[in-house]
Amino acid sequence: SDHSLEYPCSPQNVDWNEHYPAFSGTGKSPEFADIGCGFGGLLIALAPLYPDTLMLGMEIRVQVSEYVRDRIAALRATSSSSQSPSSSFQNVSIVRANAMKFLPNYFPKHSLSAIFFLFPDPHFKSRKHKARIISPTLLAEYAYALRPGGVIYTITDVHDLHEWMKSHLEAFPLFEGISEEALRSQGCGPILDAVYSSTEEGKKVERNGGGKWLACFKRIEATRNV
Ligand code: SAM
Repeated sequence: SDHSLEYPCSPQNVDWNEHYPAFSGTGKSPEFADIGCGFGGLLIALAPLYPDTLMLGMEIRVQVSEYVRDRIAALRATSSSSQSPSSSFQNVSIVRANAMKFLPNYFPKHSLSAIFFLFPDPHFKSRKHKARIISPTLLAEYAYALRPGGVIYTITDVHDLHEWMKSHLEAFPLFEGISEEALRSQGCGPILDAVYSSTEEGKKVERNGGGKWLACFKRIEATRNV
């Protein structure tokens, strides 16, 4: 449970140098957040594509988060000798955290340019809907952490969950839907390709012949500063 987890009391208390030693002294903090990152497929796919962008996965399961941590360490160790430091996975890291409770402890206001919710747990029964990772309260937190112009990417193989996420995001005043075509024309094609098929869950859906529904939203500028 959460009791055994230690959390920073605010983003100022997170030492990003520990996560990204190759970037220490640059003052950089994560810009991409993969919420419920599972086994880390998205982070690993995006790391070499955006070598100067710091990325953080959040995963609640102990063993899964440890697996990702070890996976990143191994990739760093094996690629640092053969490639330039910028492509050696120095820009990805993971925390074990309950993102539904502690996201604001990690990400300061307007620090993120992308948040990913890839194949989140569906919580099918309606009494469990409050456990879903997209809800009006949590959307306020995501809007706070995302900078204007930043993008929320959601994808799921559960159509009911897709409709749920889309309708909540559409109803929230600080988000505006953005089509896949528009994102691709703005150069986000490689991100979308990774969103569709780089994660372990996305691959499983493919093996089982399931459908995938994508919904993306841009964080808009508020008329008043929020
Ligand atoms: N995004 C990954 C993928 O596409 O392969 C994993 C998808 S998996 C169905 C959902 C993941 O979210 C699980 O690994 C689960 O442990 C994690 N998760 C669920 N609730 C969470 C929470 N509150 N905070 C962080 N991670 C959470």
